[in-house]
Amino acid sequence: MDPTVLVAPGLLEVAGGSGVELVYMLAALLFILGLKRLSGVKTARSGNALASLGMLLAIAATMVLLWGSVALWIVVLGVLVGGGVGGWLAKKVPMTAMPELVAFFNGMGGGASMFVALAEIVHAVRGEGSIADQTAPDFAIAAALSVLIGAVTLSGSLVAYGKLSGKFDRSRIGPLGLKAANIALMVLCLLLCWYAGFGAEGGGSITFAYLALTVFALVLGISFVTPIGGADMPVVISLLNSYSGIAASATGFVLQNNLLIIAGSLVGASGLILTRIMCKAMNRSLLNVLFSGYAQSGSSGDDEGYTRVKSTTAEELAPVLDAAQSVIFVPGYGLAVAQAQHKVRELADLLEQRGCQVRYAIHPVAGRMPGHMNVLLAEADVPYEQLFELERINGDFKNTDVAVVIGANDVCNPAASDPQSAIAGMPVLHVWEAQTVVVVKRSLSAGYAGIKNELFQMDNSLMLFADAKKAVEDTIAELKEL
Ligand code: NDP
Repeated sequence: MDPTVLVAPGLLEVAGGSGVELVYMLAALLFILGLKRLSGVKTARSGNALASLGMLLAIAATMVLLWGSVALWIVVLGVLVGGGVGGWLAKKVPMTAMPELVAFFNGMGGGASMFVALAEIVHAVRGEGSIADQTAPDFAIAAALSVLIGAVTLSGSLVAYGKLSGKFDRSRIGPLGLKAANIALMVLCLLLCWYAGFGAEGGGSITFAYLALTVFALVLGISFVTPIGGADMPVVISLLNSYSGIAASATGFVLQNNLLIIAGSLVGASGLILTRIMCKAMNRSLLNVLFSGYAQSGSSGDDEGYTRVKSTTAEELAPVLDAAQSVIFVPGYGLAVAQAQHKVRELADLLEQRGCQVRYAIHPVAGRMPGHMNVLLAEADVPYEQLFELERINGDFKNTDVAVVIGANDVCNPAASDPQSAIAGMPVLHVWEAQTVVVVKRSLSAGYAGIKNELFQMDNSLMLFADAKKAVEDTIAELKEL
């Protein structure tokens, strides 16, 4: 974009010179600092604020660049509508629905990159583009990647949104979802990328090639995410997050905008790192997650098949806890649903006052988003020193009097050692090694992976069937009576 055309006379000096680029660099620096601080629980809040400030600066600098043009008002409108909807969603959406919101936002990011690249391609074809050397190979490669990755991210994320929110649970749509269909679509998309960038001659066939690429890439996104279910969704979400960054970065090359290249690369790289962490946590390779396509997501609600379950009550649990020297709480998705974190903290405080050692075992994919349990427990000001990652605490269950599993299921399912299971190979918390295990949940229904949990009928297991918050509240009341 040529600033001399768009910038008002008073601002020409700043925008036309290096002022805007300098502000862009500052914004990029704030993104990097923000990201760094987001990696620690204590500093995450300030990291978020720094990154938001960076985005504010970037938007302000872009406005200066567009001063006096119609495009400025489009940006203002975008900020008002996007900011308004974002603010409203942040207030309205409950914590438990955050993962599907993140999936939806990933999709919007990918879609935005795809549409911006398509608009720039139309400009280029019409010879109206403002970027130098439209026909250069780097433009062709960046534009094709932008459309391809942006479209896959858009449709794939919408399928992920549907799966996480329980609105869509199919593993195939006709041939879509089959490995062969994915490979065929991928090859077709790559051929179209080449043809759009280098093979097609004349505006008509170039436009047609990019449109065909858009359609087939959207279908590829659907076909790629549809078969993935069960416990593998966390990996898919972080991978799509990374894709949205890579698409934005490619669009940055199309627009020759340094800030978009940097910001997109940061999202792309951090998403890939998170994907790797998630794969490691679940002991699965990325290829295995993407191409094995097995278990369906969603709870089966199947209470059958359990014959030796022993149930308990808050009244019976209180003396067991009162006598315990060591207790490990294992929080899961149900704790988030019940919003029981404050009550669990209260119960933990009561136990500590009685001389009991209290710890929390945190599984990396407990809940519905990475770090879900850390966020919840931080809300209740649970001391960081009491939180233990899986590897650090798994060996200690055997020395523990009581493990209290609150609204968790898959993350402590011994079926992970069965090679045929939907969660085969996933490291799980060995709660059954504690002297007594108390599982607090409302019924015997399955967790996210939709499979039976033998933990519920082990000899040392007791089931407390209730809403997590109510169960903990009642236990606190009983404990205070002792
Ligand atoms: P699960 O989904 O395995 O189980 C949660 C359990 O909570 C359910 O069995 C349910 O049983 C119980 N529950 C629900 N509401 C309440 C309530 N109000 N009070 C008490 N209990 C309740 O959760 P986990 O945390 O153990 O495992 C997470 C699963 O989600 C894994 O399979 C993981 O792969 C997947 N996942 C994780 C993501 C992440 O990034 N962390 C993202 C997407 C999926 P009942 O209905 O009987 O009460």
